Amino acid sequence: MKPTEFQCQIKSFKQLTPTVFETAFEAHQPLPFNAGQFVSVIIPGAGPSGRDLRRAYSIASPPEAQSIELCVKVVEDGPGTQYLYSLRPGDQLRAMAPYGTFVYEHKPGRNICFVATGTGIAPFRSMALSQNFQQNPPARGFCLLGVRTEDEILYAETFGSIPNMEFIPAVSRATENWKGFRGRVTDYLRGLDGSFPWLETEFYLCGHGGMINEIKTLLLERGVQKHSIHQEIYYK
Ligand SMILES: Cc1cc2nc3c(=O)[nH]c(=O)nc-3n(C[C@H](O)[C@H](O)[C@H](O)COP(=O)(O)OP(=O)(O)OC[C@H]3O[C@@H](n4cnc5c(N)ncnc54)[C@H](O)[C@@H]3O)c2cc1C
Repeated sequence: MKPTEFQCQIKSFKQLTPTVFETAFEAHQPLPFNAGQFVSVIIPGAGPSGRDLRRAYSIASPPEAQSIELCVKVVEDGPGTQYLYSLRPGDQLRAMAPYGTFVYEHKPGRNICFVATGTGIAPFRSMALSQNFQQNPPARGFCLLGVRTEDEILYAETFGSIPNMEFIPAVSRATENWKGFRGRVTDYLRGLDGSFPWLETEFYLCGHGGMINEIKTLLLERGVQKHSIHQEIYYK
């Protein structure tokens, strides 16, 4: 599908965590995409000499849903996030879509392991809720989400309701009340022993570039083939 410009209207705005919000919009004409792809939002007049800027955001909702949902981390003084944060129901938005090749591909008999930092979980939500995934599920699923504090955990309910999917938040600066894993997603994976099905699993990595590079190194050390590692880097 060739990317095209779409006029859209904001339908809802929701604060998901103290630093992440969800904005939902509908395009004025059908906006086809595959789960895992992203939109390029046009930020009017925010570039040099008043030119438009563009920022990429993974679609967090499945292709079958009526609205397109984005899950956005607020970046202080960031033009893209500040613009999206300012939009409320009824406002208009322009976006180019669809983009990207980071999509769910069913491989019969294989497991899937999603690994995200923060809003890097957005494309995995789209994939896990998509008809394609639900009709062609992996043998087993794992979803690892790295956040600093437990109040930043995203979409626990979504992932908790996917059959055969284990949702594992890794919290690096947890409060003393946190009962789950303490540390980064990299620490969690490093601590898994030989009983983890490394060679029977497709790994999908999304978010911070540093995390992705560290995990790729670890996976290659465990014998995972390069073609079983899929990645989407949000920022370095
Ligand atoms: C393919 C792709 C998909 C993306 N999808 C999403 C998404 O679904 N949700 C989302 O929040 N962002 C996503 N991003 C990042 C997004 O495009 C912007 O970079 C981000 O929103 C910051 O833009 P800005 O204009 O507000 O700030 P800028 O001034 O452009 O960025 C400032 C700095 O913020 C940091 N930063 C950027 N993104 C993040 C982030 N997600 N979490 C923490 N720090 C960050 C980086 O250090 C960056 O240099 C995606 C990026 C790519 C390449």
